[in-house]
Amino acid sequence: MNTQEVDYSAVFDILEEMFGDYKNHNDYRCQVSFDCPVCSHEIKGLEDGDGKGNLEINYKYGVYKCWVCAETHDTHGSIYKLIKKYGTPKQLKRYLLLKPEDNEDGNKRVYSKVRLPKEFVSFKNASFGMKLTPGYKQAYNYIKSRNITDLMLQMYNIGFCATGIYENRIIIPSYDEHGEINYFIARSFLTKTKMKYKNPEAQKEIIIFNEHLINWDETIYIVEGAFDSIFIRNAIPMLGKFMSEHLFMKLYEKAKKIVIVLDPDAWEDAQRLYHKLNCGKLMGKVWIVELKGNKDIADLQGKINENDIKQLD
Ligand SMILES: [Zn+2]
Repeated sequence: MNTQEVDYSAVFDILEEMFGDYKNHNDYRCQVSFDCPVCSHEIKGLEDGDGKGNLEINYKYGVYKCWVCAETHDTHGSIYKLIKKYGTPKQLKRYLLLKPEDNEDGNKRVYSKVRLPKEFVSFKNASFGMKLTPGYKQAYNYIKSRNITDLMLQMYNIGFCATGIYENRIIIPSYDEHGEINYFIARSFLTKTKMKYKNPEAQKEIIIFNEHLINWDETIYIVEGAFDSIFIRNAIPMLGKFMSEHLFMKLYEKAKKIVIVLDPDAWEDAQRLYHKLNCGKLMGKVWIVELKGNKDIADLQGKINENDIKQLD
């Protein structure tokens, strides 16, 4: 079983079947919240739950926790445990078919080497015939709608899959410092999709996305997502709103100057990150950009106004 090909939308389906409507869902982080089956149903005796969505589940890491009764009622642990307790035997069986390694003794996480999907087509190498297919046209139109240039397609070897489990997705590969593939982002280019992102299983916390393109002696830009990183030279995406310990250590060790550019809705996270980085030998070498309104990094087209780069007190 290739662990990188887990169908997380199928895991999500099982959870939705078990708990009904979700309260929040972040498909990029594979995180979803529901009313807690213990404190919102059993304890309060409610039929429909309390609408608070305190039960948080990360179906990629395979863990859950209730923010209210985890300590008092042991409402935390593996998804396997959750489904065993609240799902039907059939649902548990379906889950184990998707993630057979998550059995009773769990926690033995083995990552297989990431490879590009065999259906991957790189835009830069696409044949003339390929360019005439509807799949190519649809993918390329999406690229254009995101203001991604042909130069970016080349530099980052961006491509797409027209078939397979990454069907109808744009692929941005990541290569390590030696140029070996170590991760990729697979984003749907369909307007209606349950899973915007479907990324391979990998030890994301030890990956520096496209490290082979990073020059540590120059200004390093820290951004949130892979799609942000392609718009700015020498940018590293955190692949989420929080920085891994690995990236933090690497920056501390190697960076000469850092500029943090997160989305406008993450200004508080950006400030927190600024203060975390701006210490020890990095003191005074960290800068931050506050993007206004609903501007995102693509809108900047790689050009950040010098006046928008500042330091905090
Ligand atoms: Zn609870």
